[in-house]
Amino acid sequence: MIKQSTFRVIPSIAYNEKALREYICREFAIPFSKLSAIRICRRSIDARQRTIFVNLSVDIYIDEYPPRLDYLPIDYPSVKDCPTVVVVGAGPGGLFAALRLIELGLRPIVLERGKDVHNRRKDIAKISREHLVDSESNYSFGEGGAGAFSDGKLYTRSKKRGNVEKILRVFCQHGASTDILCDAHPHIGTDRLPRIIEAMRNQIIEAGGEVHFNSRVDELVIKDKEIIGTRTADGREFHGPVILATGHSARDVYKYLYQQGIHIEAKGIAVGVRLEHPSALIDQIQYHNREGRGKWLPAAEYNFVTQVEGRGVYSFCMCPGGTVVPAATDSAQVVVNGMSASHRSGAWSNSGMVVETRVEDIDGELRPFMQEALQDEDFAAQYQGMTKSDHPLCMMAFQAALERATWIQGGRRQVAPAQRMADFVNRRLSADLPASSYSAGLIASPLHFWMPRFVVTRLAEGFKKFGKNSRGFLTNDALMIAAETRTSAPVRITRDPATLCHTHYAGLYPCGEGAGYAGGIVSAAIDGERCAEAVAEYLLSNQS
Ligand SMILES: Cc1cc2nc3c(=O)[nH]c(=O)nc-3n(C[C@H](O)[C@H](O)[C@H](O)COP(=O)(O)OP(=O)(O)OC[C@H]3O[C@@H](n4cnc5c(N)ncnc54)[C@H](O)[C@@H]3O)c2cc1C
Repeated sequence: MIKQSTFRVIPSIAYNEKALREYICREFAIPFSKLSAIRICRRSIDARQRTIFVNLSVDIYIDEYPPRLDYLPIDYPSVKDCPTVVVVGAGPGGLFAALRLIELGLRPIVLERGKDVHNRRKDIAKISREHLVDSESNYSFGEGGAGAFSDGKLYTRSKKRGNVEKILRVFCQHGASTDILCDAHPHIGTDRLPRIIEAMRNQIIEAGGEVHFNSRVDELVIKDKEIIGTRTADGREFHGPVILATGHSARDVYKYLYQQGIHIEAKGIAVGVRLEHPSALIDQIQYHNREGRGKWLPAAEYNFVTQVEGRGVYSFCMCPGGTVVPAATDSAQVVVNGMSASHRSGAWSNSGMVVETRVEDIDGELRPFMQEALQDEDFAAQYQGMTKSDHPLCMMAFQAALERATWIQGGRRQVAPAQRMADFVNRRLSADLPASSYSAGLIASPLHFWMPRFVVTRLAEGFKKFGKNSRGFLTNDALMIAAETRTSAPVRITRDPATLCHTHYAGLYPCGEGAGYAGGIVSAAIDGERCAEAVAEYLLSNQS
């Protein structure tokens, strides 16, 4: 017999299998010997009150055993002799597109500019150690995309539960813990992601698909307003409809789309800093307990959002117990982001703290910052003519200007300019900086002075509001590290909402975060699957 029940218990019961069994037997009057198994279907923490509870939805198996797997595995057929589809980019968007193509009986050829996930690690280590950024292999480029050395948070604002569950099941089938199927805020961790990504690649190859590393696509092959394939930097051509899943950091891709006359448009982005607190402090604040999280609770999360002077100010991609990482994709820029391991037991917790900017701001409040950026010869050589709101690459230019300014303030290395949080709000240079997880080095810097005024004033007001709502949050023990700029794509590659095909070119499927249709691992993966389905329909309609 299976009994389904929903209840709430304290963490020492929820996260301790033996205690949970005893609790269930007692509460539901089940003899201990008859309880065969408990399957947790949903688990969420309720930290709104002083006493923390964990809400559980469980299947209780009495004299009966659960199925071996918590999910129905997907069957990937052989696609050796099937029509090919070119997938550019092996991030979550591209990988999930490729797997879905196989399910649909199509053969994916995945072209990835970076290295495989194993070899990518070495280049990532060099960024902190030697201040060398390989423009083809870094935190954003290489197998697994920006999702590989990330926090691996798997929640999304997508309301389509079925789509999200499918993505989570695919992750489990390739080695992720089935905990992600029940946790309200599922998380994999950067220590576990590479093996899962490798398993996905092996699955694609086993089914008859291809995965090519060090294969940067530099051009789309166009014939009569139809995209019929791609050309790589070393001159190889691959033919078929193209799913373009190149992420939000491939500036060269945006540039050549623009140069090839393929319609794109500017899109607003959010920019700011990484904010890092001691994780013990965040635990104390969020769990309302001086002792912190205790033995059973995970490192605490937060989520802040407010409006200041007509723009959103919010926390982004929070990494409890995580580290701040140097996420630049080229050498003359400093970009920060956050990641964490599966145990999330690090001494610090960080999040992006960002301010929404819109395309029209580039001609308004952001103008002085852009004019100053254009004084820099190197910047002007690359972005002159792109800094007004009527240019599709204007927000990319703003992003690049801020990253370059940060790099200059950091001493032209991967050292990041930083300031204590209360000092920033009070417009004071920090006399010293607290210890930090950012391993490439920090330099005390008056962020309030050189970051765009548009961002500084709103961020400071936002911090005051967050500090009022959460006592202890606005503190000089917290550190702001510049600059967080890669929150989403600065460009949208336009596509038809019904067919997902590019608005002006047949055979081109802009996909995932880089195309402006996703934000985060799960939504990029969902978009990858949708694009695969759209290509399948396109090929079918071409046959008939
Ligand atoms: C440090 C960090 C932590 C993050 N943490 C989280 C998190 O916890 N949860 C979450 O949901 N999201 C997180 N994100 C964001 C998330 O990783 C992205 O939203 C997601 O990876 C987007 O997927 P995508 O496939 O659209 O693009 P990407 O993951 O960016 O993949 C694009 C791929 O295309 C390749 N490519 C680019 N140009 C070319 C070309 N010309 N030819 C061939 N290949 C090319 C790139 O090398 C890359 O592999 C994080 C990002 C970073 C950087």
